Amino acid sequence: MTFRATVLTIFPDMFPGPLGLSLAGKALAAGTWSLDTIDIRDFGIGVHRQVDDTPAGGGPGMVMKADVLARAIDSIGADSRPRLLMSPRGRPLTQQRVIDLSAGPGAVILCGRFEGVDERLIEARGLEEVSIGDYVLSGGEIAALVLLDACVRLLPGVMGKAVSAEEESFAQGLLEYPHYTRPQVFEGRPIPEILTSGDHAKVAAWRRSEAERLTKIRRPDLWSQRPAENRPEFPRKKGSTDG
Ligand code: SAM
Repeated sequence: MTFRATVLTIFPDMFPGPLGLSLAGKALAAGTWSLDTIDIRDFGIGVHRQVDDTPAGGGPGMVMKADVLARAIDSIGADSRPRLLMSPRGRPLTQQRVIDLSAGPGAVILCGRFEGVDERLIEARGLEEVSIGDYVLSGGEIAALVLLDACVRLLPGVMGKAVSAEEESFAQGLLEYPHYTRPQVFEGRPIPEILTSGDHAKVAAWRRSEAERLTKIRRPDLWSQRPAENRPEFPRKKGSTDG
């Protein structure tokens, strides 16, 4: 099954952009995933192909019109793919949501501009609002590229070693451990001895404890979400084993 992405935007030239390069670009060329864009202006009104209008109730900026966006979305036809609206008001994107999306048929992604989208369109077309973080971008296109990049790299065959996805940040509710490579000493800083010891069990234990240490310090929110039995300070019952 090919992962199909359809992006609705007033800037179709922004796609595939960086996703046309590197692993995502190779996978796109190989047909592992597909990307098509719909230019919202094609459904705009009048000679100027108007897609926005002044906000009801007054205030600054412009709002994307529900009627125009509905026509653009409906042009896709019946489809089982989730319909997403990139939005700072949305549920923050997580690695788990990315994993779920990449296991599905793809996504229809609406990119907002101006002050955003008429609320009635969101309700009427059942759009799921997705945020890529607590900051405001000037448009949803870069947010859509972020979401697609995160999904595409998880598609079968896109990444060299599938195991790396299982070990990297967030996979087990932890940030990833630190990496090192040659030279053995860089500006007086050696690679931690244990990593060159050849003792795989010790290396794994060191990585685990570093991942836990970093998560605890940098992301107390992630740390506190981990089940208590997976947190080292949790008092273990006698005879319990690590799992
Ligand atoms: N007035 C909106 C607000 O205060 O929530 C911000 C609108 S923003 C200037 C224009 C568009 O950029 C949004 O409709 C959305 O599509 C996109 N956007 C901005 N920040 C985003 C974020 N953090 N995550 C996802 N999309 C974002």
